[in-house]
Amino acid sequence: MHENNAALFPTYARFPMALVKGEGSKLWDDQGNEYLDFFSGLAVTNLGHAHPAVKNALLEQANRLWHVSNLYHIPAQEQLAEQLTAASCADRVFFCNSGAEANEAAIKLARRYHQQVRREQRYEIITFHQSFHGRTLATLTATGQDKVKEGFAPLPEGFVYADFNDIDSVKQVINDRTAAVMLETVQAEGGVHVADPVFMKELAALCEEQGILLILDEIQTGMGRTGKLFSYEHYGIEPDIFTLAKGLGNGFPIGAVLAKEKLSEAFAPGSHGSTFGGNPLAASVAHAVLHTMQKEELPQRALTMGGTITERLQTALKDNPFVEEVRGLGLLIGIACVEPVAELVTQAREQGLLVVLAGPNVLRLLPNLLLAEDEMERGLAVLTSILAKQAVGEGI
Ligand SMILES: *Cc1c(COP(=O)(O)O)cnc(C)c1O
Repeated sequence: MHENNAALFPTYARFPMALVKGEGSKLWDDQGNEYLDFFSGLAVTNLGHAHPAVKNALLEQANRLWHVSNLYHIPAQEQLAEQLTAASCADRVFFCNSGAEANEAAIKLARRYHQQVRREQRYEIITFHQSFHGRTLATLTATGQDKVKEGFAPLPEGFVYADFNDIDSVKQVINDRTAAVMLETVQAEGGVHVADPVFMKELAALCEEQGILLILDEIQTGMGRTGKLFSYEHYGIEPDIFTLAKGLGNGFPIGAVLAKEKLSEAFAPGSHGSTFGGNPLAASVAHAVLHTMQKEELPQRALTMGGTITERLQTALKDNPFVEEVRGLGLLIGIACVEPVAELVTQAREQGLLVVLAGPNVLRLLPNLLLAEDEMERGLAVLTSILAKQAVGEGI
């Protein structure tokens, strides 16, 4: 039983355990217990733990060169940027080290594009209630949840909020200061709410018509998670800017802002920077991640596997009164329940399955994209059994 360490800030409500080894979909704690990982370090280890291609890329680069400044050319970073632009609607990439930093840079890029390139005083960013965009001052302000903002005032100006999947609520807050709309295609932290295809089309058209930039936060939805390499591909739209982090390094910290060519001038020399961003170690690892994902067509696998898991759960839980809905996109799946489910996360763990919450009432499943059939069966069996017991226990 692990307790909170007195040398650390108590920022996290940690599970009372320490994981010390991982391989594929399996994790082991320091007591030797084995777990099936439907959590993936929060949508990070999309290729599973210790993937050979990723591990080898890291080891090879570690033997050669770890870090040089961005004041030099970094071939591995250039190669990764070319690989990302070839695989997406973007033409330019800026590398940083985390999701919040990527979103922070996206906000800066959007403002600077309007103010320096188009010479218009536009700075407002429209985001959505229930969204999550990070923990820096600007990104927690962008986040549409009050709990992440408490005690951090004064917050930066220039953020307004609309209702997710409600195009009229967006139209109501647009004005001549609007620089961009920023959103997740699946509000993951906010409860696994999937954007409606009609809403996304209308939003993209509205942005285009009004000269407003469309920014997609693909930090959780990107890198194959939803069944496409990037989730906007589901919607037949192209964002002006999108951000990546989590799955990009499969556990090695790296973030990225990707944008259309028209934004390139906005990040002129000296306008933005990051000491570690896209250094040789991070870039080599991310290159191996993306290469593996493309070569093995893993987004397609996530689509199929995610569809199977969702359908199986929908069928198995359709008469379970404790369960409201099973929803999601690819392998980003939520089981929405009628009451808080923190206790079920503990019960699943006691049966060897790691899952995570998405808000108080939603169990979130984030297995890796290489999850084997028998592992899927085992995970489904644990989930349906604890949810069946819960319904009986609650007498509903
Ligand atoms: C995790 C997450 C972030 C923040 O990423 P960090 O690397 O923790 O800063 C931002 N947006 C979304 C959608 C996320 O899931």
